[in-house]
Amino acid sequence: MTALSRRDVLMGGSASTLLVGAPALAAAPTAGTQGPGVYRTKLGSHELTALYDGTWFRKIDDKFVKNATAAEVDKALTDAFLTPGIVPTSFTALLVNTGSKLVLIDTGTAGQLGPTTGLMTGALASAGVKPTDIDVILISHFHPDHINGIKDKDGRKVFANAEILVPAPEWAFWMDDARMNAAPQAARPAFLNARRIFADIAHEVKRFEPGGEVAPGITSVAAYGHTPGHTAYAVASGNQSLMVLGDVTNHPWLFARHPHWQGSFDVDGDMAAATRKHMLDRAAADRMLVHGYHFPFPATGYIAKTASGYEVVPVMWQPM
Ligand SMILES: [Zn+2]
Repeated sequence: MTALSRRDVLMGGSASTLLVGAPALAAAPTAGTQGPGVYRTKLGSHELTALYDGTWFRKIDDKFVKNATAAEVDKALTDAFLTPGIVPTSFTALLVNTGSKLVLIDTGTAGQLGPTTGLMTGALASAGVKPTDIDVILISHFHPDHINGIKDKDGRKVFANAEILVPAPEWAFWMDDARMNAAPQAARPAFLNARRIFADIAHEVKRFEPGGEVAPGITSVAAYGHTPGHTAYAVASGNQSLMVLGDVTNHPWLFARHPHWQGSFDVDGDMAAATRKHMLDRAAADRMLVHGYHFPFPATGYIAKTASGYEVVPVMWQPM
């Protein structure tokens, strides 16, 4: 028996001899689209539904990671079989059905990061949930990819019946005019975007201090650094629990494998790295199920500790 080389496969060389006598292939049209981005997991008596909003193929420059060179970042991308210079940043929100409430944690991009984003409305429909069914929205932090889904492009609320809960320190930072006016030009759009989403519904938005219960079986956990009020959520039912990490780590093949790396998007890079280490250490030690907003879909898995960082071990697709 002869081994096939990669070249044989690409060139159709010796491999083609295997096809002699095979029946002709039917000319079926290609689909060109993906199936719905919906993945369900059971947690105690809660049902979790991961909702895929799409992927932004983010072109990066040498400032993307503050304390690593472009060559180091490109090597990490290459090690993960990704294209150098492009970070495929995916977005997956999490819907928690507690039995009494439908709780949505973060809301997607509303399609504002290019044509390969904004799929969440379709994912929600595929999951059999209407936007008006959502009772509670929990926000991890105010970056646009997490809050933009609260409104449609015409400024109307998408989840008409939902109570919106946000971390108070996050509100205090982003809605402070003095801070916005003092911020560098590049940081202004995020401040303005937070106003676009929240200013006219401010009276409806409930602000909480992280550390307490915010919905049945869901506790907020301060995870500051990425932004000043960045908040994780611990979901518990029966003897099972899951930690919703938000942006404790961005793309895990960069920032979990290299937990000391500080993304240009971290407001306080030192604090973000310390929080990341603390949270991932805990997840690994407790063998805790985690959800990461920017993890590859279904964005749910476990954290294993390695010699130099952490590795995400995704859950396996399984029937309910
Ligand atoms: Zn994010």
